[in-house]
Amino acid sequence: MSVLVRGGSGRLCAAARRVIPCLWSGKCLSSGREPAENQVTPMLRHLVYKIKATGPITVAEYMKEVLTNPAKGYYVHRDMLGEKGDFITSPEISQIFGELLGIWFISEWMATGKNAAFQLVELGPGKGTLAGDILRVFSQLGSVLKNCDISIHMVEVSEKLSEIQALTLTEEKIPLERNAGSSVYMKGVTKSGIPISWYRDLHDVPKGYSFYLAHEFFDVLPVHKFQKTPQGWREVFIDIDPQVSDKLRFVLAPCVTPAEVFIQRDEIRDHVEVCPEAGVIIQELSQRIALTGGAALIADYGHDGTKTDTFRGFCGHKLHDVLTAPGTADLTADVDFSYLRRMAEGQVASLGPIKQQTFLKNMGIDVRLKVLLDKSDEPARQQLLQGYDMLMNPKKMGERFNFFALLPHQRLHGRSHPMNTCQSKPSVSPVAGFGELAWR
Ligand code: SAH
Repeated sequence: MSVLVRGGSGRLCAAARRVIPCLWSGKCLSSGREPAENQVTPMLRHLVYKIKATGPITVAEYMKEVLTNPAKGYYVHRDMLGEKGDFITSPEISQIFGELLGIWFISEWMATGKNAAFQLVELGPGKGTLAGDILRVFSQLGSVLKNCDISIHMVEVSEKLSEIQALTLTEEKIPLERNAGSSVYMKGVTKSGIPISWYRDLHDVPKGYSFYLAHEFFDVLPVHKFQKTPQGWREVFIDIDPQVSDKLRFVLAPCVTPAEVFIQRDEIRDHVEVCPEAGVIIQELSQRIALTGGAALIADYGHDGTKTDTFRGFCGHKLHDVLTAPGTADLTADVDFSYLRRMAEGQVASLGPIKQQTFLKNMGIDVRLKVLLDKSDEPARQQLLQGYDMLMNPKKMGERFNFFALLPHQRLHGRSHPMNTCQSKPSVSPVAGFGELAWR
């Protein structure tokens, strides 16, 4: 496959950043590559007006506007996933990925006493491919789940992608209920008869025993960027280039900015990216899991508090200058799992990050591949093997992507959850994926 996954490293501007002056009007921080074409997109025009009116904006505000502005945001009106789009993700590469995640949720449901009901909540579901593969496993294991009341909850800001998700997942004979003004903006029934609802915000998803899933979701949340200077930490902002009209450039704030509180006191790096929105979401997930049980499985590319400049763009499977033609390319930054862990501390236990290769191996990817290969003819076999290589090869997605889980403390210490009335027996079975799958 000649496509580029977003986990690929694209250090577009690290060297230049060390010499930027601490003034709004300072020398331009090069974003690394000269734009192939200086396309004035509607988003660029919008940002130029905004900066002229109210001054330079943080990188976080830039990311938020470019990706999720309700009128012009990159995610809102387009389908960017797959070989014809800008990047490709694991569920789009191989059905095995989603199947193994489906088994993970069932394994956790069983290990915690087979609750009478659960919600599966997916954050940023893309085309709905991952949820589709998980739901197929739920149907195949119908005898195990037969007395369990399941519902599906999608947290999605993109109008376009929510329509694609509905097309992929729902039963077309049952019309969708739509209400753009409501926090539940769409409702339907899946092909296997499970109720499914769409929300823009996790806050609006009903609280209750839930399994949460976020695959390549945290990496698109807005990051603040900071550079260490002789005067202390200074935030990187985005301003208009005074030399070239309709061109953006990076500058450093002349003084301390509020987001600096997110930097650790003992930070040793000279450039950091912090994502307060990720912290808020992790805290919400942790509170929910501590209160009502369940688990969260987060998979993304990232690091454990070690990387510096990871902000980059992708367009047509190529690295793209983050400041060029905004709104036409995906923007992303590696997830800092050490920050996610800190945000969960005290409320729930966390596991990982562990490499995708290890997680999928522990989940039995080799056994599943063999079963599928035995059933397939030649072109399909090639596709399965290529998909396996893409997911598992350390040079491809195997080592760049990580799995991270949030679980109630009781889950790791063998006590039943107080809310879990159907608990059969206290359980201390290992958590699948993070150790070998213990299928009971
Ligand atoms: N999980 C999918 C898609 C990843 S792309 C996959 O792996 O294939 C990121 C997804 O997050 C898209 O569905 C995008 O529309 C959604 N998204 C981006 N920002 C969001 C936000 N702030 N709230 C909810 N969804 C968001």
